[in-house]
Amino acid sequence: MSQEQSPIVMVTGASKGIGKGIAEVFANAGARLALVARSKDALTEFATTYREKGIEAEVIVADITDRASMAAAVEKTVEIFGGLDVLCANAGIFPAASLETMTDDDWDTVMDTNLKGTFISVQAAMPALKTSAFGRVIVTSSITGPVTGYPGWAHYGASKAGQLGFIRTAAIELAKYNITINAVMPGNILTEGLEDMGDDYLASMSASIPMKRLGSTADIGHAVRFFASPEAGYITGQTLIVDGGQILPESLDAVG
Ligand code: NAP
Repeated sequence: MSQEQSPIVMVTGASKGIGKGIAEVFANAGARLALVARSKDALTEFATTYREKGIEAEVIVADITDRASMAAAVEKTVEIFGGLDVLCANAGIFPAASLETMTDDDWDTVMDTNLKGTFISVQAAMPALKTSAFGRVIVTSSITGPVTGYPGWAHYGASKAGQLGFIRTAAIELAKYNITINAVMPGNILTEGLEDMGDDYLASMSASIPMKRLGSTADIGHAVRFFASPEAGYITGQTLIVDGGQILPESLDAVG
């Protein structure tokens, strides 16, 4: 399989939000898609739309916190498409809990999904990626944790920073198989999930971003696709912030 042909791309968390945006960008570029999430209906609706446009898209119901489920997801992908070239380890959750009230369960749930789920997804995909001519992994991290903080997201921030620690050693271990692993770090991206934060949150976030708008899911999809492109084949263990300049201002006065 050559990368210029039709890469086989698995996107976790493809049922909505950023994952759906990533899948759309790859679909528009002619990729074959394994769409992974727990919600079959949402995935099916999305896949049907793409199949009607002649794009090969398969629905794979799986839970990234469950090793057997992810192993089966990769097996099914290989069975259907004959391999796997690109894993977009994107699925994640961001329930808010203040540090004072955060329970062990709150902490573990976020870590199990965002950090351990990334580890499980990458490990499950490895056997298939090793047989690809150009194995690629792109992790969706965040600016929250590695660079910034936001009240209620101490556990989330820790999980997102942890993903970056993970990719740096993973990059070294995967290099011998010609597999790269990189991370995109979105700022505030307009998704159904973020819309639930309410209008006040969305308005104040837009105001604090130099480009004066939240990012689109396609903004992230294009960055992810760059890491999967032939031109990015010598880049590994790296991160790309996609935030409209959100982390740059020293104060709101700087944004104007
Ligand atoms: P979202 O709209 O809530 O979508 C999350 C996706 O992850 C859904 O498809 C969900 O599908 C899936 N998912 C959650 N838990 C899963 C599990 N255990 N197994 C399989 N799939 C699971 O969230 P989003 O905003 O697109 O976030 C996607 C990623 O971007 C996350 O890693 C998040 O940390 C990161 N991010 C988002 C923003 C932002 O502004 N939105 C900013 C920075 C980083 P099911 O519920 O059907 O399983």
